[in-house]
Amino acid sequence: MLDINGPMGSMADKAAKTKTSVSAIYRRLLGYAWQYKGRLILSLVFAWFQALSFGAMFVCAGVAVNTLFSKPDVFSQQVETAAGKLAEWAPPAVVQTFVDKAQILYQHPIQTILALVIALVALTLLGGIARYLQEYFAGSIGAHVAVRLADEMYENMMNQSLRFFEQHSSGELLARLANDVFAVNRGLSGVFVKLMREPFKAIVLIAGALWVNPTLTLSCLIVLPPVGYIIVSIGRSVKRNAQRSLQKLSAMQTLAKESLSGMPIIKGFCMEPYEVSRMRVELRKLDRFLVKMVRADAAVGPLSELLLMMGVGGFLLLGAVYVERGYIESGDLVYLLGAFGAIFGSIRSLTNVNNQIQTSMASAERVFEYIDMKPEIVDAPDAVAAPPLRDVLGFNDVRFSYDGQTEVLRGINLQVKKGEMVALVGFSGAGKSTLVKLIPRFYDVTGGSITLDGVDIRTVTQESLRGQISIVTQDSILFNESIRENIAHGKPDYTDERIRAAAKAAHAEEFIAPLPNGYETPIGESGSNLSGGQRQRLAIARAIVKDPAILILDEATSSLDSESEQAIQKAMDEFVVGRTTLVIAHRLSTIQRADRIVVLEDGLVAEEGTHRELIDKGGIYRRLYEIQFATAEQAAK
Ligand code: ADP
Repeated sequence: MLDINGPMGSMADKAAKTKTSVSAIYRRLLGYAWQYKGRLILSLVFAWFQALSFGAMFVCAGVAVNTLFSKPDVFSQQVETAAGKLAEWAPPAVVQTFVDKAQILYQHPIQTILALVIALVALTLLGGIARYLQEYFAGSIGAHVAVRLADEMYENMMNQSLRFFEQHSSGELLARLANDVFAVNRGLSGVFVKLMREPFKAIVLIAGALWVNPTLTLSCLIVLPPVGYIIVSIGRSVKRNAQRSLQKLSAMQTLAKESLSGMPIIKGFCMEPYEVSRMRVELRKLDRFLVKMVRADAAVGPLSELLLMMGVGGFLLLGAVYVERGYIESGDLVYLLGAFGAIFGSIRSLTNVNNQIQTSMASAERVFEYIDMKPEIVDAPDAVAAPPLRDVLGFNDVRFSYDGQTEVLRGINLQVKKGEMVALVGFSGAGKSTLVKLIPRFYDVTGGSITLDGVDIRTVTQESLRGQISIVTQDSILFNESIRENIAHGKPDYTDERIRAAAKAAHAEEFIAPLPNGYETPIGESGSNLSGGQRQRLAIARAIVKDPAILILDEATSSLDSESEQAIQKAMDEFVVGRTTLVIAHRLSTIQRADRIVVLEDGLVAEEGTHRELIDKGGIYRRLYEIQFATAEQAAK
């Protein structure tokens, strides 16, 4: 079955994907985190340790307050009450020891303080170790998940069809890969560190408070849900702002990338002030959104402080009433105030986490959008490996449109025999580049078919199809690696002999051999250490090493230095022998050597024949020849 999901289909698909609900994103992120369950469990265990040591510190502090500041009769009464509670589950001997020890502590306040200080330091140390381990395990989950997301996103980006890269600027894709992934990392680390720790702390403290005085504690807990609601609403608005400012950021990066890569043009046309003003407009927009975000962020702190103060006020009022009616001792009230202060501290910390989550959700949403994107061109489910071309490469009424409306190719019929060299010529915009892009399925035809020995290329695997095609384009694209890696790109199993043979055939060996590190020489970013002719010859070596059945050439329009030109010409002459070649020709020598010239005009084959035949015919080709090739020939002389 053919997959003829056009651009419209994939766009609708994308729109549906963008609407993913926040809870679905949460669940999905948690699914990723769940792959590190071991760390998750360890982090939970250490969070408990930390919460318990924190609770124990409160008990110690409570004991200190009661011991030092209670009057003797109040103290005895408190010891009695505590002993009564203890007696409910502990054996009488333990209760007795507790009462005896309490009396000793009360009578020797300095020793008591010393013992408490030692206990507090020991608990802080234990709590600190637990905290370190908890943060380490929780934080590493955030890091691992973020890296996995980046990995999956990059893989899926790489598998997208060419149209995707024409529609998404590299600045935008870079922003996704860097900014969003790191935002998710920060968010997740914050979540796992604090979300696991703070609730436990709060639970231990609430349990302690309930033990001291259930009624007052429960009344205070009623205040929490409305506070929670307000906090969530603030978080939502932060998320919206974060999303917008990130979009602005990527618009700015796109613009900068565009300008920076076109510096020769900008300098040549004195466009610097214009570029600066364009950037200034984007930066001003970014500024507005950043300030908006700062405002939303800044509002979160004071708002929660206000809420906290209102909580303390309410607590004190209620506490005063309780003390007056004799429901609670004033010493316990002080202890409860401390405990609630710490509980509110935890809640505040969770508010920040919530904001962090909202910000990182905006990023996670975009990351998942890129992970889920389906490539436009996929292998048919029953695709088979294409055998090497034996007979004929056929274009059968081939139609193509980039936008689904205007047809760029309007019914091309062309049969190229094995070993034949066809030169494609035509005025700019006639559709030559588009036609050759359809052969390796960079795009799929929108009508008609392209066949290898009669087999539709949409029924074979892309790998087997592209495996027998080499493309050499005008701008030889090289990577920041060694010469060897550039020739063998992506195929580390090619032997040195094979690479050397290809370089020799491309007449590249003559400049590689004298280099101190030979094939291992790094070529610099985009081959900046090489001349134009050398870059072109490396690109040809890369095409040769594949030993392709079909060769697609897009000749350089600008002329190189004559030495390089000759070397390249010689390399190409030898390379095309016996291969089915389609060349977008700009040189007279190429068209004269071609077995057949096909003239494209407005998306159709206008004329076909040899150079001589077409000149005699006096049609488009003759005009084209007089304008393009004859002048190029004169310029060369
Ligand atoms: P040629 O190689 O003969 O100069 P092309 O195949 O590049 O012609 O272009 C044919 C037509 O398709 C032109 O009108 C051009 O504007 C349009 N075109 C080329 N590439 C794209 C693209 N990526 N998206 C939309 N339209 C395009």
